Amino acid sequence: MNNNKVFVAYIPGMDTRNLAKTWTPFISKCLEDYASSKIFTNPSNEVLSTLITGMNPHEHGIWQLKTKESLDELREEKLIDKIPDIFTVAIQAFRHQFFHDCDVPTIPPGRRRAFELRRVKFRGRANTSDLLHQLGHVPSIINSMSDGNIIYSFSDRLHDQNTLLNNVANGEANLEFLQFHALDMLGHWQLDTDEKLQEIYNQVDTFLKNLYEKCESKNIRMVIVSDHGQEKVTGDINLKKKLSEIDVPQNEFNYYIQPMQARFWFHSNRAREKIVKILKEITPGNVLHFEDLHKFNINFKSPEYGEVYFIPEPGYLIFPHDFYHPLVNLVFGIKDPQQRNRILNPKHVAYHGYLPHHDSEKGLLLLTDNLSKINHSEINAADIAPTLLNMIGQTKPAFMTGISRLSA
Ligand SMILES: [Zn+2]
Repeated sequence: MNNNKVFVAYIPGMDTRNLAKTWTPFISKCLEDYASSKIFTNPSNEVLSTLITGMNPHEHGIWQLKTKESLDELREEKLIDKIPDIFTVAIQAFRHQFFHDCDVPTIPPGRRRAFELRRVKFRGRANTSDLLHQLGHVPSIINSMSDGNIIYSFSDRLHDQNTLLNNVANGEANLEFLQFHALDMLGHWQLDTDEKLQEIYNQVDTFLKNLYEKCESKNIRMVIVSDHGQEKVTGDINLKKKLSEIDVPQNEFNYYIQPMQARFWFHSNRAREKIVKILKEITPGNVLHFEDLHKFNINFKSPEYGEVYFIPEPGYLIFPHDFYHPLVNLVFGIKDPQQRNRILNPKHVAYHGYLPHHDSEKGLLLLTDNLSKINHSEINAADIAPTLLNMIGQTKPAFMTGISRLSA
């Protein structure tokens, strides 16, 4: 094999703990026969930005949101802030369905206007490929390859397998990605028992085997990448209720709540002391100053992306969070059969993005041939892009701080 074409089967949510012989015979055989490494991920539910830029979050800057430079506007009470959140958020969410111009529409205007959004706004297969080619004007393996000879495909539907098998891995690009997102999507909303998990893992395993056979027939090297697993949800934390009970005016702090992480910005010592105190009382959780995240490769030097983080233990969900609104939930539940369960139960059944040393967060880089070895038993998410470039015989661009972990 000497043409160095590489096909990456990127399967978010493929939990390394579920890769057993009975569930995933093909992957298990590859794990025995070929080089593999765990991936140390970011404490986030979105690791793709790090995977494809070869940079850490403080370097690529795609880390949900940061505060705007000037906070004057924040302190000023606006007329709209007198309208209850339930109405303003419903209007924003309704607008978002048609115009897509208001990311995270479920955050009320009073909190929203302090933030500059630094998210990748994935909307499933509608925009993922285009989006990654721009990636918020941050350079990546996709938008800065000198020859542009790269293909990125996305699907979050399990029943797309046969179509995908025809459409991908035809040897048209030096580097080709297929992001098969169905496992992550189903994991969040449906896979709450081992029986269901086994059935889906078995299907994904067969799909990967078929992709591998196609790649082999076309002389393409295949690599399997997962950037996290999923932890079954066992409990939830009503953080918004706790915040509503403290005796601190809303203009003295701001917050942003994802299901597996809450961030706080404080404008007074009183707010800082009271809120940190209640966060520390929540037992299935961790309270971290932004500098504590340095040990997870998140090296922000100032608190603009959040001063204090609250990250629950795996399996705990913060609910309600800033992405929850009954209207939004209903729309997604009706639009997507894979998310139908959320009409009756708006809480995810499994989640990820907790602190990276937990088993639920371990990603996997797995080769399907003996042409290379991987130097380490665990590599960083930012090492993936330089490693893939190495496989196709290209040197990494200067902006990538990750390191190729491949050896001959
Ligand atoms: Zn996910």
